[in-house]
Amino acid sequence: MSRHHLRFVLRQYIEHKNASNLRLHVWTHGIAWLALTTALSQVPLPLPFQVPLLGATLGFVVLSLLYWLSVDVLVTAGVAALTIAWALVPLSPWGPGHGLAVGVALPLLVFTAMEITGRFGHVYHHEHGRFMKGGPRWRAALDNAHAMIWGAFHFWLEALLHAGWRPRLKAALDQHERQALQRREQVPWDNWANLAPCHVQHVCMPQTIEDLTKAVAEAHARGHRVRVVASGFSWSSLVPSNETLIFCERLDRIEVDVSDPEHPVVWTEAGVTNRQLNRELARFGLCMPWNVVLENVRVAGIASTGTHGTGRTTATVGDLVEAFEVLDSEGRMRVLSEETVGPEIMSAARLGLGAFGVIARIKLRVVPIYRVRQTDTRLPVRTMLERLPELIGAHDSVELYWFPFNRDMWMRTIDRTDAPRTFHGHGFWFKAQNFLQNAFLVVFFSKHVMRLAPGLTPALLRLGIRMLPYRTRVLDLPESHHYHHWIEMMPAGCLEVGFKADPDIANVRRAWEATERLVEKYASRGLYPLNLTLNVRFIGSSGSLLTPAYGEGMTCYVEIMWMGRPKGWAEFSSELCREWLKEPGALPHWSKEFEHVEDVVPIMRANLGDRRDRFLDALAQSGVDPERRFFNALLRRVLIDEPPAG
Ligand SMILES: Cc1cc2nc3c(=O)[nH]c(=O)nc-3n(C[C@H](O)[C@H](O)[C@H](O)COP(=O)(O)OP(=O)(O)OC[C@H]3O[C@@H](n4cnc5c(N)ncnc54)[C@H](O)[C@@H]3O)c2cc1C
Repeated sequence: MSRHHLRFVLRQYIEHKNASNLRLHVWTHGIAWLALTTALSQVPLPLPFQVPLLGATLGFVVLSLLYWLSVDVLVTAGVAALTIAWALVPLSPWGPGHGLAVGVALPLLVFTAMEITGRFGHVYHHEHGRFMKGGPRWRAALDNAHAMIWGAFHFWLEALLHAGWRPRLKAALDQHERQALQRREQVPWDNWANLAPCHVQHVCMPQTIEDLTKAVAEAHARGHRVRVVASGFSWSSLVPSNETLIFCERLDRIEVDVSDPEHPVVWTEAGVTNRQLNRELARFGLCMPWNVVLENVRVAGIASTGTHGTGRTTATVGDLVEAFEVLDSEGRMRVLSEETVGPEIMSAARLGLGAFGVIARIKLRVVPIYRVRQTDTRLPVRTMLERLPELIGAHDSVELYWFPFNRDMWMRTIDRTDAPRTFHGHGFWFKAQNFLQNAFLVVFFSKHVMRLAPGLTPALLRLGIRMLPYRTRVLDLPESHHYHHWIEMMPAGCLEVGFKADPDIANVRRAWEATERLVEKYASRGLYPLNLTLNVRFIGSSGSLLTPAYGEGMTCYVEIMWMGRPKGWAEFSSELCREWLKEPGALPHWSKEFEHVEDVVPIMRANLGDRRDRFLDALAQSGVDPERRFFNALLRRVLIDEPPAG
């Protein structure tokens, strides 16, 4: 393959590693090619002879085939056969004379729809090739244009290579890819919510644990601080580093261990996503006993930040960890488990914030899959608040959602059951419904609508609560965890605080009523900063030192989400967060938005009490990072630095 072709093919080869995403691109770009050539075929060429089959696109189609012939004969023949077959279909609007609407506008519409579908494939699978950013813009635009026009050639070739075609070419591409992933300099990075940008001197994307080990050792030799990015869904600036950033998404091997049927475990590499993990565990009839809603997050990310799901007897994802294999700051592999380092260090590492070494692999406790009955009810807020202690006692999980300006709210209860499944999998219609719901939010709560017509917010939220289906269904536990798809397409804002719930739930009511009061106060000034939901979840106690769920008792998590950065969001969320943080031991969720909250660091330190020192002592005793090279600015600000005087 020529250097010219190699550059374009390699880029798409690197950026379409997810098998489902690649499959989607094979289809969309095959159809897009036919649409594009159909539109072009309307242009009559001033040739002295007729080419019956290829019509007027003789130039474009034949030149394209010639352009790709040297890359791969089979792909070129395949695209030629598809084009000819399409041209011969009796109803095909191929060739001049089909008019502007059918011959040009319709094919161009199909072409655009296919390109957009391909883009949404990247959103759904969260495959963005962020590691590849940083080159000249024109080059990225050229790469994109190349793939848009000749996508059928690109993606068909890649699919064939993965299916075993031309192993030598695949080996050569793998080798080029390996080199490309080893290092890139001066790469801009930002998190999913575009709130934590950094410009990194050195990035790499290891494909094996050996690569990862080498990367950490080399960063040490350069004297760099190191951070790792999993999927980048954390809102807070937990990830950024301007020195070395390691992308762990290619570390995705999974080993399920059912040798002790009473105690199934799974070893996962750091970059395994929930979606990959769920699929593999399901093959063994297993699942995570609790989890976050998103499927595209990676295990090292969710095991480092105190993430949680919902349910009285659940804890944080870190509590499921039996062992971490981590690389210390010099690149030496260490195993952190209660047996190797003792319970106190493990308690700190279970919410390690990336400070306890670069995680290579994690051993997680898992359970046999079971079914749950999930019931969605609409009920008045006041009824819910009166009955809350009884409801919590009566169900495995109670989750509450309030869309402001509504008297009613949405309550979801979840209970373990042996009843037969009534809801089979997250199929196409379920995803389509989720997509449309999210599209509604993205369009109506966009930055522009929220800026231009914030007064629409109450009406839209009243419509929102009506759009929800209130029903009971029985489904497998993992489907209950990941009940909402397509969340990746709506970069909302989010702030969450956890605190130990009073036995009579008095402080939960206080937190709820504080939200209602502030919503009214801001609305009276014509401001609608809380334009999505208040969400309340309850979990059990956790052994992770830095989580608000640490220690005995049930923990309540109160969370607000907003779209489109409405006017007043920072002031509102800061005021509400400070109100919620008045509860003893209350802490913000580490990976959500809290850095803008006034005086948040002294409040967090006061509420953490001696746990901050215990965390730092445990880290020192572990010997993983004596020079604190794995700390970034946020960790230093919250855990170490002296607060600025005055
Ligand atoms: C739409 C949405 C819904 C969410 N739902 C929930 C929810 O239901 N419950 C909940 O608790 N949270 C929830 N979250 C928060 C989310 O689960 C956390 O932000 C999670 O950490 C994100 O995972 P990630 O893979 O994107 O990790 P990242 O954000 O990439 O990383 C998180 C932290 O882990 C560190 N890290 C990552 N990989 C490694 C490694 N290999 N070694 C060392 N450190 C590492 C990073 O440096 C960073 O400090 C949600 C977030 C979003 C955007």
